Amino acid sequence: MTMFQNSKLYLKNLFGKKTRRKIVAIHIDDFGSIRVRDVQARETLRTLGFPMSSSRYSNWDTLCTSEDLQLMFEVLCSVKDQFGHPACVTPFANVANPNFEKIRESNFTEYHRETFVDTFRRLGKAYDGAYELWKQGISENIFHPEYHGTEHLCVRRFMRALQENHKSTRLAFDHECVCLNSLDGDERRPYLGAVFNIERPEDNEPLKDYIRDGIKIFQDTLGYCPKQFTPGNGAHSLVLMPTLYECGIRYVDASLRMASPLGNGKWERHFYWNGKVDSIGMKYLIRNCVFEPFLDDCSANSNAVPLCLASVEAAFTMHAPAIISTHRVNFTGGIDKAHRDESLTKLKTVLQEIVKRWPEVEFMDSSRMADEIL
Ligand SMILES: [Zn+2]
Repeated sequence: MTMFQNSKLYLKNLFGKKTRRKIVAIHIDDFGSIRVRDVQARETLRTLGFPMSSSRYSNWDTLCTSEDLQLMFEVLCSVKDQFGHPACVTPFANVANPNFEKIRESNFTEYHRETFVDTFRRLGKAYDGAYELWKQGISENIFHPEYHGTEHLCVRRFMRALQENHKSTRLAFDHECVCLNSLDGDERRPYLGAVFNIERPEDNEPLKDYIRDGIKIFQDTLGYCPKQFTPGNGAHSLVLMPTLYECGIRYVDASLRMASPLGNGKWERHFYWNGKVDSIGMKYLIRNCVFEPFLDDCSANSNAVPLCLASVEAAFTMHAPAIISTHRVNFTGGIDKAHRDESLTKLKTVLQEIVKRWPEVEFMDSSRMADEIL
């Protein structure tokens, strides 16, 4: 790592709430949402001309199976902090997916959703017990989901694409896949996973009900109200903050200079830091460490472990909690088990190094960390 890159890790931690405690929280985006149904769907779509290996998401991203969850939990439980607590992850979860069958029955005139629990049921054997594992992870305090949006899918654009018979969206739909790069030669449309990227200011209105409905599903399926939110694709309009607050959200996981869409192609950037409080009382958290064992172009990231450890060191030196950012795609084995295993091996190395270098470390779910230090 160059001196410039290294100093950037420290600069990230210049502002914000300070603590002498060495707290590690691990944020994993995208749990609960579908993308590529399974390996058969990936291979069929590849044959049809989709560039499936052009991104790690179309190459590997699928729901974590029961086996994926069990193996992840084993890694988390294999290390202990100073109080004997295992490592804990905070999955940012989408609690619903499109109900393909009902949408088709309506001849693409109506959108229907199913909960992630129903998706597990529909996908069959590899997902038997997955919902129970989520609940087990919550009760053992190693897996504490927060809210990432209801679906990881912009329903408005998705339905429009289906109704207009956009070839790539319709073919992906036929194989129960969403949010893929378009077929070579087909019209490229805005990314469907960017739920909160509004086109016009009034597009925020239906998003208020989308949030209320999603948080209700979250509570009904997981038994508690989420306290933290990070938007799918990293941007949402500040107009939605009162709705999030009214639904129980108290923390927003942001980036240092997060942009918010205003509609009509306009954006505004705001500066955030750990513990920033806005006018309605919402507090902000900043991810200051990164762990991505696979890069977006599908190549293995040989720098994932050293970069993560260097960023944890920078956070602790600057008296900030270490908030590690990663994505579910690294930990899915439903399409390729070797891919998942490589990520888990690297995760284990990171966790072992953390407890060795900082024996006074505390592993925590992110909202508890926020409750304690903000
Ligand atoms: Zn996401």
